[in-house]
Amino acid sequence: MAKLSIILPSYNEEQNIANTSNVLSTLLEEHQIDYELIFVSDGSKDATYSEILKAAEANPNVKGAEFSRNFGKEATIFAGLQLAVGDACIVMDCDLQHPPTVIPQMWALWQEGYEVVEGVKSSRGKESLAYKLSAGLFYKIMSKLIKMDMNASSDYKLLDRKVVDVLLGLKEHNTFFRALTFWAGFHTTTVEYEVQERLYGESKWSVLSLMKYAISNATSFSTLPLQLVTVMGMVSVLFSVVLGIQTLVKYLLDTAVEGFTTVILLILIIGGFIMISLGIIGHYIARIYEEVKGRPKYIISKVTENVQGNIVGRG
Ligand code: UDP
Ligand code: MG
Repeated sequence: MAKLSIILPSYNEEQNIANTSNVLSTLLEEHQIDYELIFVSDGSKDATYSEILKAAEANPNVKGAEFSRNFGKEATIFAGLQLAVGDACIVMDCDLQHPPTVIPQMWALWQEGYEVVEGVKSSRGKESLAYKLSAGLFYKIMSKLIKMDMNASSDYKLLDRKVVDVLLGLKEHNTFFRALTFWAGFHTTTVEYEVQERLYGESKWSVLSLMKYAISNATSFSTLPLQLVTVMGMVSVLFSVVLGIQTLVKYLLDTAVEGFTTVILLILIIGGFIMISLGIIGHYIARIYEEVKGRPKYIISKVTENVQGNIVGRG
């Protein structure tokens, strides 16, 4: 019988683990789907991992792991995929903002032969205005940069074992799961879902962390910002031609004394362009540096007893 693995990134989610585990197991048993739930605690500072242990004791289909520190949601997704033994994997938030009712639909589509089932948001749920604006801008920029419509996409998706193995085989350190499944291709379809409200706890994202996430993902998926440097260079050249002619004309007409304002402005503009360009290039060098070091994406410090193999300390 085919098995479904559900991967649930959990960072400081002590209030959600027991409830989510119950809701999902009830649902899956109702639909007679053979399953495992994999909670990956992202170096939580609260009782998340002991809640996972409790859930695993109550239900042998529940597995879990704890990171040695907070590595971010991307890392938890990849750790979960690594631990999963199912023929298909679903990644979903453990706060149940991704409605579990969609799971049977995804499963049915997978049985029809689809290899990737993307969850698409039909609404973004109740989020603060600042969050909506920053998330909106983030997706606009991202969609432009990686040439895919990211606005409605999310981390809620089902992947066939083949796709999981492709993703696990990637050597890159800075991954962007949401876009990687588009990149990987395969026979893909979508299901729509309404983003639910969080029952317990609060969102882990601040505007600042979202911005960092945006920059890191944009640069891990696109080299377009580097071309911005070229564009700035061309703008500078254009300016210098115009101003160069003006300066020469003034010199020839013997009126070349004034013009301090122009000099100051030029120094400021060109200085600004150079600094920004260096910043962009520096950012990419930093990314190369990180990738070259080849450190693991995450470090697992503990796993529940039912996890097979020696996975502790690896990533
Ligand atoms: N998460 C994580 N590591 C982090 C931040 C978040 O594993 O550093 C998990 C979190 O536990 C949740 C999911 O990622 O299951 C989505 O986070 P959250 O609900 O805070 O984001 P939102 O739904 O508000 O976008
Ligand atoms: Mg959430």
